[in-house]
Amino acid sequence: MKKFCLLLIVCMLLTACNNAAPAETAESALTTEASVASQPTVPAVNGPCTSHVDADNNSYCDVCEKYILINIDFYTVNDLHGKIADDDANTHPGVDELSTFFKNARKSDINVILLSAGDMWQGTSESNLTQGLLATDWMNNMGFAAMTLGNHEFDWGEEPIEENFNLAQFPFLAINIYDRETKKQVSYCQNSHVVDLGTVQIGIIGAMGDCYSSISADKVEDVYFITGDDLTQLVMDESEKLRNKGVDYIVYVLHDGYDQDKSGSNVTAITGNKIQSYYDTKLSDGYVDLVFEGHSHKGYVLKDEYGVHHLQGKGDNQAISHVEIVLNAATLESTVNVAELIPTGQYAKLDDHPIVEELLEKYKDEISKSDEVLGVTSKYRDSYAMRNKTAELYYKAGKQLWGNEYNIVLGGGFMSARSPYDLQIGEVTYGMLYSIFPFDNNLVLCSIKGRDLQKRFLDNDDGRYFIYYDQNLRSTLDPNGTYYIVTDTYSSLYGPNNLTEIQRYDEPVYARDLLAEYIRNGGYNN
Ligand SMILES: [Zn+2]
Ligand SMILES: [Zn+2]
Repeated sequence: MKKFCLLLIVCMLLTACNNAAPAETAESALTTEASVASQPTVPAVNGPCTSHVDADNNSYCDVCEKYILINIDFYTVNDLHGKIADDDANTHPGVDELSTFFKNARKSDINVILLSAGDMWQGTSESNLTQGLLATDWMNNMGFAAMTLGNHEFDWGEEPIEENFNLAQFPFLAINIYDRETKKQVSYCQNSHVVDLGTVQIGIIGAMGDCYSSISADKVEDVYFITGDDLTQLVMDESEKLRNKGVDYIVYVLHDGYDQDKSGSNVTAITGNKIQSYYDTKLSDGYVDLVFEGHSHKGYVLKDEYGVHHLQGKGDNQAISHVEIVLNAATLESTVNVAELIPTGQYAKLDDHPIVEELLEKYKDEISKSDEVLGVTSKYRDSYAMRNKTAELYYKAGKQLWGNEYNIVLGGGFMSARSPYDLQIGEVTYGMLYSIFPFDNNLVLCSIKGRDLQKRFLDNDDGRYFIYYDQNLRSTLDPNGTYYIVTDTYSSLYGPNNLTEIQRYDEPVYARDLLAEYIRNGGYNN
């Protein structure tokens, strides 16, 4: 549908361009071939006007007579984390109202460009149980122009990315994701995408941030991310290539971002080293005109020392980024009219768009598991209590399976929790646990030296390590001894932990599954 509309607009504009020059056509019929060749700067009067001229400054092209002040609205969603449906606990809205917002935006403005800065799929049962397909389907329906891949797009490995790639009617962007074997960019990504608005061409360049280590190592063993100065060079080269091809304005969509919230929609000036930790400001010196960011789940509108705006909209469907520019197609000067975050509250008042219900119905077989009522929690449980409980369940499950053979002394490891983070008193569904523990990290038995056990687990002050251990472990610990622990693959594959994997659960069993079983057995109803 979108492609058709764009085609229509392009055709209309080209027709307008051709119709606008009948007098010149008559005149040029008199010129000889040789004289035309000697004046290569005169735009072709019968073809599209590729570089508009407005010498008389009346905002119309002197050649094709098109209006050359082009308004463009960019809306960017970052870190949606699968929040497609309204959640049971009512802590986050789904995208049913946002869908209405996007459809309305398209009705009132032909130049709407929808973008994503990554981490769209992973995070809720409806999205995870379809491994992102439901979210991609929604993006198709909204007419997204492009999506930069985020680290969490790799949470199930590369195969689901390829399946989503096959479904997506828009390109996946990441200039810096390379295949280890071929040393070439992965097949499901491209460097950039050009949105043809007829009078102007908008280039979108995408890049993954420096977040390789935040992905469970076994899910990304076949790829690597180019970062730092090499990434800067890739983006510069791509920008030059696009500009040489006639692209008029370049948007950089980066799955990385500033690490602080900046209140409201005020534009905050930002300089040098604060931004340099994730973005090379050299790019703002003529290579990119606007930057959308993600990954850090912060909300801000920043303006760097070159006057380039940087926006990120919090994530988890809390806000989206919006920039409206006016681009002069003749001079290529651009003005930012609006650079703002649109918080959920602003679009949540709109009517629900039926698309979300339709998609939930379409994928109902895959996602039915999320409706299972596991049991009841008689108390409010925060994510810390749940993660402590999960560490205990790691320990107990491991003892049950391997306890006869190995003296297991500890269970647990690095554990992240996600929105809505906690359980309210009442019924608990599998879907709720799925949102809080969306990660597919399998249980694994490992050996570890005493000194590493002390440093990496018992004394770890990271705040995200949750452990459960034998009461006498601390007092009897021998730094040179070998110990057995039960953790998950995220923690076991993290190099500094110095863990040696002995065996994994045959069947994938994840944190949420252990907790689900515990709740089924009435564990939280006390
Ligand atoms: Zn994220
Ligand atoms: Zn991320």
